Amino acid sequence: MRQTHLFTHSRKDAPKDEVSKNAQLLIRAGFIHKEMAGVYTLLPMGLRVINKIARVIREEMNAIGGQEMLMTTLQDPEIWKHTGRWDDSAVDVWFKTHLHKGDAPHQGAELGIANTHEEALTTLLRDHLASHRDLPRYIYQIQTKFRNEIRAKSGIMRTREFQMKDLYSFNTDEQGFREFYEQCAEAYMRIFMRMGIGAMTYRTFASGGSFSRFSDEFQTVTPAGEDTIYINDEKHIAVNKEVYHDDVLADLGLTKSEMREERAIEVGNIFPLATRFCEAAGLQFADEKGEKHYPYMGCYGIGLGRLMGTVVEVLSDEKGMVWPEEIAPFRVHLISLAGSKEDVAREAQHMYELLLDHGIEVLFDDRDVRAGEKFADADMFGIPYRMVVSEKTMAAGVVEMTHRSTGATELVPESGIITRLTS
Ligand code: ATP
Ligand code: MG
Repeated sequence: MRQTHLFTHSRKDAPKDEVSKNAQLLIRAGFIHKEMAGVYTLLPMGLRVINKIARVIREEMNAIGGQEMLMTTLQDPEIWKHTGRWDDSAVDVWFKTHLHKGDAPHQGAELGIANTHEEALTTLLRDHLASHRDLPRYIYQIQTKFRNEIRAKSGIMRTREFQMKDLYSFNTDEQGFREFYEQCAEAYMRIFMRMGIGAMTYRTFASGGSFSRFSDEFQTVTPAGEDTIYINDEKHIAVNKEVYHDDVLADLGLTKSEMREERAIEVGNIFPLATRFCEAAGLQFADEKGEKHYPYMGCYGIGLGRLMGTVVEVLSDEKGMVWPEEIAPFRVHLISLAGSKEDVAREAQHMYELLLDHGIEVLFDDRDVRAGEKFADADMFGIPYRMVVSEKTMAAGVVEMTHRSTGATELVPESGIITRLTS
């Protein structure tokens, strides 16, 4: 993409009320737009990142047997009443709305705006799941959730409208459920590795709610995190503050003196649900003898925007963002320092076409602005490879390539560029 074509512009300052580093950088670079507190639009560059995050998540979910669908945002209150979660005292983040008053016979009836989908999925599966032969099933979506969050100060890490990948597992028994649960935990770690935050992300013991002792959170260590966790490096065990009790530690063979405290952000959460939601929805399967049972269920969430914000928090430096290759908006930021030199402009244009011809995603800074401004933007955007074409590089028959993450620069002969990027 040509930068002269991109409708967004980078800016010097973030909005004054924006306190989080992730949103400040993303807004300044023109990746997102703040609509209001906790509500952000994804601009073209930001959308490219989110789409890549989605791609990585899909690959990993499909690899463990996930199948994708898309459920609705508008929800019938009736199905939520079965679990008691329509009540605002049970779920305090509801956004609710009403049908049109003129819409007989429903006249002004209440509707829910989904914050999660256990109720919807267990209800709809009554039409599709009847026998043990219909199990196991691993069903997911990437869908927009709405939550009326009280705190919304963490930029895109906590928003009121956000995309979540939510997967729900259904097994005939607890053992099958456990096996899948572990597979999914491994898939989550692969996702975070591919996102460049694997080394600082810990599978963490967390509260399990009313139907399980623990759930597992995936917590990425960062001062911007909202949670407190305790880590034992030797055993690679982490425990959320909410379950940081002596008896829990004793069961894990640990004492408080062996744990270090860190701030962290929950980038993912996997949850055993046992049969609670299937019971509420009346979702049963018949075994070989025709006897009815409730499936064992689990749920597995990852927030895409929160992940994007976390990567910005954790990997950025004083100059701007640093994207890992898998989720960078582009692979190469090609910078033309042509000024008024037409031969240099032609050379940069040629390089742009060469990269495109080889399927390499490139943002081409073909703007007529100072070199300093181009470099500052390149640093802020954080695209992995910066390539400069100037009078000097042209005279030497090379392209200057700088790695955003290390700052290392190499001069690559023009004929070697493609091999350098594809091998
Ligand atoms: P938190 O404790 O941070 O409020 P949660 O436990 O309520 O989150 P889950 O219901 O477990 O969140 O949601 C699954 C995942 O969705 C979370 O691990 C997180 O990555 C993401 N997520 C949850 N709430 C938000 C939000 N308000 N904004 C962005 N992402 C979110
Ligand atoms: Mg959670």
